[in-house]
Amino acid sequence: MSEGERLAGNLQAVRQRIDAAARAAGRDPGAVALLAVSKTHPAEAVAALAALGQRDFAENRVQELSGKAAALADDPAVPALRWHLVGQLQRNKAAAVVRLGATVHSVDREQLVQALARAAETQQCVVDVLVQVDLGGPEGELGERGGAPPDDVPRLADAVGTAAGLRLRGLMAVAPRGGDPAPAFDRLAALAARVRADHPAASELSAGMSGDLEAAVAAGATVVRVGTALFGARPLASDAEDPHGTRARS
Ligand SMILES: *Cc1c(COP(=O)(O)O)cnc(C)c1O
Repeated sequence: MSEGERLAGNLQAVRQRIDAAARAAGRDPGAVALLAVSKTHPAEAVAALAALGQRDFAENRVQELSGKAAALADDPAVPALRWHLVGQLQRNKAAAVVRLGATVHSVDREQLVQALARAAETQQCVVDVLVQVDLGGPEGELGERGGAPPDDVPRLADAVGTAAGLRLRGLMAVAPRGGDPAPAFDRLAALAARVRADHPAASELSAGMSGDLEAAVAAGATVVRVGTALFGARPLASDAEDPHGTRARS
């Protein structure tokens, strides 16, 4: 099997999982977008998936994102792609991510909102932003998988919503490690409904990965972020050490 055939099979299987989960939940499968998480995989793999019709790609580090985005933008055979950042962002990299035109899924603190707003103003552009929610670890402990404590989320959403140059698109979260992700995704959905009451345009719910996308779609995810099920396993070292770039924070 060629690399292209392998990716085509994976893409079809993931789309079928999304469709089945949406139908089971009585939702329109077209209302769930697939975000391909290409971290640690080469630009060639992104190009191959783009050739199969995928347009939205995510990375968890700004440097890796900018390298791949630049390499692929220079390739006339690759269509225009939309980039997303799903890992923790240092303030001093806010300008770089804004320059790349990426959607930022991982806004988790007020200082980062201000840094992104300043960059958007300087560069005269609008940045799409999601606030990342910390759903806690298996015992509900915070700080495991990144994101803002749930109590901080409405305030952060207001800060994004009132910043010129930032557009609040919704909320993002990673489920706790181990156990049933459904209760965590339900808490996320309830918080998202609360945020939407004040910010009606913040309609995106970015939740669900290779292992738990069905539970996320059942809870109302509008974006699932899938890496492993599309590209295959990542090299263990880089992933296990720092799966969500949690060490890189300002
Ligand atoms: C790596 C990553 C994903 C994709 O995880 P898989 O289990 O490989 O599908 C999704 N979201 C975030 C925030 C990630 O860092």
